[in-house]
Amino acid sequence: MNDALQLRAESRSSLIAVVLDLNPLAWGFKAAQDAQRTSKSESFVQALDATLTFISSYLLMTHGNQVVVVGAHPLGAEILHPTNEYSGNTASMVNRQIEAKINDLCRSTLLDDSITDVSTSPSSRFNNALSKALCCINRMKSDKSNMPARLLVLKCGGDFLSHQYLPLINCAYAAEHLKVSIDAVVLEAEVDIPVFQQMVDVTGGVYSRVTEPATLLQTLLTYHLPDDDARKILSKVPSTPVDSRAVCFKTRTVTDIGYVCSVCLSVYKMLTPICITCKTVLKLPGMPPSRKRKREK
Ligand SMILES: [Zn+2]
Repeated sequence: MNDALQLRAESRSSLIAVVLDLNPLAWGFKAAQDAQRTSKSESFVQALDATLTFISSYLLMTHGNQVVVVGAHPLGAEILHPTNEYSGNTASMVNRQIEAKINDLCRSTLLDDSITDVSTSPSSRFNNALSKALCCINRMKSDKSNMPARLLVLKCGGDFLSHQYLPLINCAYAAEHLKVSIDAVVLEAEVDIPVFQQMVDVTGGVYSRVTEPATLLQTLLTYHLPDDDARKILSKVPSTPVDSRAVCFKTRTVTDIGYVCSVCLSVYKMLTPICITCKTVLKLPGMPPSRKRKREK
């Protein structure tokens, strides 16, 4: 009887991988914006609290639920849970470990001056973080006889991530292949992130943009906590139209018609003789071949 109960609980348990943006520049900018409007600048603390509450809720929802947390920052990505120190599923222990890891990361890497260096991109490396999260999901799915898994990305700020466009879309197709839906939450008042909208669209997840850090927890619990089966019964998330246009790799603007590199598929709004991504020298469109010679033959 106990075995049957355990089997039933395990068969309903699922896995979520949470990718958390730890970009100090983006959070600092957000805090400055908030301070102008509300005289409070606790964006990151609020968002971290909301994320930890969400993770606890997920772990407490069904016995055997598992969570993977990956922190994305401008210098790379790091798995915050599970680690060698603690790999269990007790909510309080998981929260404590995540907080300790973020503290360590802040002291060792994030508050280092190298991030403000012009040579490094100021946006977090979501492509690294998503790849790591998908690798973890793949391993845990094969260990636990194909348990259902999802991925949630939380990003701060309205950077279009055009440098990471191709790897991110590739991650979305890899996730679709693994039957993993990607949810995206963007903490930004003004603009949507087209690449995240497209990833969510490809994998059948939920996209939401949160304008106030205070409403983040509510959004996470209402729209992102229910699993795929429960979402079919619940009322639909107010959907924003998906912007499926590509982002120009040079100007980082959304483009309707553009030029595509034939080697790496980078998109450019204006004709570019040398591809920025793969450094290929592209042939400029010349005159069409004359028909005279054909006729002579
Ligand atoms: Zn190229």
